[in-house]
Amino acid sequence: MEQLNTTETNTKSDIKKKSIYSLELHELKNWLSENEEKPFRAEQIFDWLYKKRITAFEDMSNVAKSLRDKLDEHFQLTTLNTAIQQTSADGTIKFLFELHDGYSIETVLMRHDYGNSVCVTTQVGCRIGCTFCASTLGGLKRHLEAGEIVAQVVKVQQVLDETDERVDSVVIMGIGEPFDNYDNMMSFLKIINHDKALNIGARHITVSTSGIVPKIYQFADEKMQINFAISLHAPNTELRSRLMPINKAYKLDDLMKAVRYYIDKTGRRISFEYGLFGGVNDSTEHAEELAALLKDIKCHVNLIPVNYVPERDYVRTPRDKIFAFEKTLKNRGINVTIRREQGSDIDAACGQLRAKERKEETR
Ligand code: SAH
Repeated sequence: MEQLNTTETNTKSDIKKKSIYSLELHELKNWLSENEEKPFRAEQIFDWLYKKRITAFEDMSNVAKSLRDKLDEHFQLTTLNTAIQQTSADGTIKFLFELHDGYSIETVLMRHDYGNSVCVTTQVGCRIGCTFCASTLGGLKRHLEAGEIVAQVVKVQQVLDETDERVDSVVIMGIGEPFDNYDNMMSFLKIINHDKALNIGARHITVSTSGIVPKIYQFADEKMQINFAISLHAPNTELRSRLMPINKAYKLDDLMKAVRYYIDKTGRRISFEYGLFGGVNDSTEHAEELAALLKDIKCHVNLIPVNYVPERDYVRTPRDKIFAFEKTLKNRGINVTIRREQGSDIDAACGQLRAKERKEETR
């Protein structure tokens, strides 16, 4: 493992201005009009932000100094400081970004055969309380604003620029529950998807939720062509409630109704994440029950061998049992893959990310 402690010189400020990356193109146009500027400047500004990826407003050389100053006065450009950048043996890079208020978040760059994928964080901490997950241990500190989520992708892209590579796909599977920060998540999606911004295709973006049912309906009605995943982890409601307290608020039956609504509305298939927790949800009977639950649903199942979290006492399912579980599903006609583990030597694998509260604690 290789570790890089960077000392960036951006001035940290407690007086927080809105991140310029929080603005969708039409919002920037409105802001310009309201500030006696020409709306078409918005496209130029987007070009500097997302195509040229400048790091200071003053670098926008074809934008009048007066407008650059106005932008600087109202908005923040750099909202994330790279505190730590760690590279795993398999090429995965984990970034620890420090926010303006001293909180830190983690972002992961994964390298697949099909390209570079960034796993973004949507909240500082999480209030969902899944019993196996490290991200929820300290509770929720705050939501990220859209621009703080966008900036994670921009930052990683800036690192990839050094080797002429690009971010090919984005997964919203870092710290936090994206549907608990719904509006900011939607702005984030629209910005990274926009052709004048990062232009990441909808089919190259995946969002995952623990199952906030009313938001699933809302999301279905947006009819975005992005990939949608549900963290399921159990084939029946009793077991799911034990693993994920959110199932007490939104029961499995209601979740499955929302899933059917989503598939009906969008015509898209859905992915289910199913973590295999040794001796808890990984028997042949569980696999059969899961196959029955998903029998007539257009879906794909991702099996995730549990990742070790020191504060939690779940153990990993042995390899042969993982394959047996997969086979039981396959034999019953369910599309299934076992998720390849990445970055586990730098604690960057599923469920291992945690919001570090203060900078001092991370050193
Ligand atoms: N909050 C969203 C996004 C997180 S995605 C959600 O719950 O879907 C991260 C995925 O890793 C989720 O499917 C989560 O349930 C899973 N996960 C959490 N802790 C894990 C662990 N220790 N081992 C394996 N997977 C885990």
